[in-house]
Order: sequence, then C-alpha cells, then structure tokens
Amino acid sequence: MAISDSLKSVKNRIDAACVAAGRPPNEVQLLVVSKTFPGSDVRQAFAAGARSFGENYVQEGLAKVAELDDLRGQIAWHLIGPLQSNKTKPVAEQFDWVHSVDRLKIAQRLSEQRPPGLAPLNVCLQVNISAEASKSGLLPAEVGPLAAQVAALPGLKLRGLMAIPEPGPGAMAQHQAMAALFQALKAEGLGIDTLSLGMSADLEDAIRAGSTMVRVGTAVFGAR
Ligand SMILES: *Cc1c(COP(=O)(O)O)cnc(C)c1O
Repeated sequence: MAISDSLKSVKNRIDAACVAAGRPPNEVQLLVVSKTFPGSDVRQAFAAGARSFGENYVQEGLAKVAELDDLRGQIAWHLIGPLQSNKTKPVAEQFDWVHSVDRLKIAQRLSEQRPPGLAPLNVCLQVNISAEASKSGLLPAEVGPLAAQVAALPGLKLRGLMAIPEPGPGAMAQHQAMAALFQALKAEGLGIDTLSLGMSADLEDAIRAGSTMVRVGTAVFGAR
C-alpha cells in the first residue's frame, strides 16, 4: 500500500476510535514512527500531511534530521527510544520532543544543553506501567516527584507521560492505569497536556483510555 493510503487508513482508525470513545478526533495526535525507514519514506509521509515523526535510535534520528534539513521548522522530531547521558547534547540541539525521560540526570543535561535560542525541549516521562524488569521507565510511584523536578528545569517543558503497555489480557488495565496517572498529575497543576500511549496494534485501546498522542510505525510504513 502507498504510504499516503496507509496514513489515511491510520487516521481513519484514530477518528473511529475517538467517535467510539465519545471524544473529539482533534484531541488525539498522530506521531508517525519512522525508525528503520529511510528519509525518502518520511518525505512521502510529509507530502501526505504528516508533520510529527518519532525516532528510536539517536544516531539514526540525527542522520534523518540532517537529511531532511530542508523541512526543518515544518517537522517536529520526537525521540521515543532510550537516551543515554553521553548522547543528550545532540538530542537537546536537534530534537523537539523526548518521550523517554526517566531520570533526573538526563533531564538536567537536556535542560542545560538546550540551545537558548530554541523553545524549551518538550519532554514526557516514560512510565514502566507493566513493571517488567526488562523495560525502562519510572515506576508509577516515582512519577510525581520527578515530574515536579523536571517541570522546574528552564530548558524543558514537561508535556506529560509516555508508556508502552505489555500486549495481552492485561493491556487495557495498563492503558487505564496510565490515564489515571496522567489525570492525577494534571490535577496537581503542572500544565501537562500529553498522554503518549498506543501504537499500531493497540491505538484503539489507548484512545479509549484517554491517549492524546499515538505513536504509529508499522501501520504507516509496513513491517520492519
Ligand atoms: C517502534 C515504536 C513504536 C511504533 O510501533 P509500531 O508497532 O510499529 O506502530 C511506538 N513507540 C515506541 C516507543 C517504539 O519503539
């Protein structure tokens, strides 16, 4: 299927999920995940209307940002994969969002390294909602304290929370737990607006629970 067609069908899925959940469709943004796909595919998705792209690997993401430099300012680049402290500088300089912040040290470095001429870097805290030992992210009880610290950093703008629920019978409960955590944090007055939740296979569950941003790769570009 052409990228423009698969993008359209993903948008239709999002709209249908919003209608089913009684939510306005413009409440849910689509982040197109371009990891492992070439810059030429990003251009096709851009031509079809996509404006936000997610990358997992810092080196690959930086290379694509450079390759698509002519679209800089029109594309929002999101880092959604793990970030090590020795790689924060180019990320702070080149990306618009980081979804995977789960340590104060990383947040501090990103804040210090964000160039003063740019808007603050948008960040989400990654939550290990399935509590799997192999997964990165904060435990739910750690979210509140780190959120308060990150919200105070001048080079960052705390936008919300991100998670990757474990597929299976417990998935919906994890989506709902993320939504509850997001609402609780919002109620603390931190001014957050983003629940980054849902991928190709589970975006309907995520939207039903309250996601405001779905991260979709396979359903747009095909299998990796
Ligand atoms: C790869 C990836 C996605 C997209 O997954 P698909 O199943 O291809 O839609 C979303 N979020 C994260 C963190 C990813 O690593």
